[in-house]
Amino acid sequence: MTTCTKKYFDIPFAHRQHLHDGHCSFVHGHNWDIFITFACDNLDENGFVVDFGKLKFLSEWIRKNLDHACVFAHADPLREKLAAAAPEAWKIYEAESCSCEGLAEHLLKVFDALVRENSNNRVWVCAVEVSEDKKNSATAYGKSFSK
Ligand SMILES: [Zn+2]
Repeated sequence: MTTCTKKYFDIPFAHRQHLHDGHCSFVHGHNWDIFITFACDNLDENGFVVDFGKLKFLSEWIRKNLDHACVFAHADPLREKLAAAAPEAWKIYEAESCSCEGLAEHLLKVFDALVRENSNNRVWVCAVEVSEDKKNSATAYGKSFSK
């Protein structure tokens, strides 16, 4: 198996940790970094795991869903109330959890499905690292390093 990693930097979006007992329960933003590690057993005809120039489907997904969005957890009791109060002020994205760890797990599933589809199942995503700033990050790994 061989891997390679694509790094997306400075993606601005907000979140809030509705269960947190500190300031993380307030809506706040970060310029997030997302590192996606791809894996395959057989390199393509160019000797690549993936062609970095042909990953627009991933940057487009990030732009469409996360850029300038606010990520809410499904279970956030204020999500609907906040959105309904001023719908034009929100670009909402929902995930099971909007912690760094929760987003890494969520994005691993999303990107893995997209990458398998776009590579005829030759390539999969084995890890996604999400950083909310220069100090804090979380990494989700696929259940196995193999297909
Ligand atoms: Zn935060």
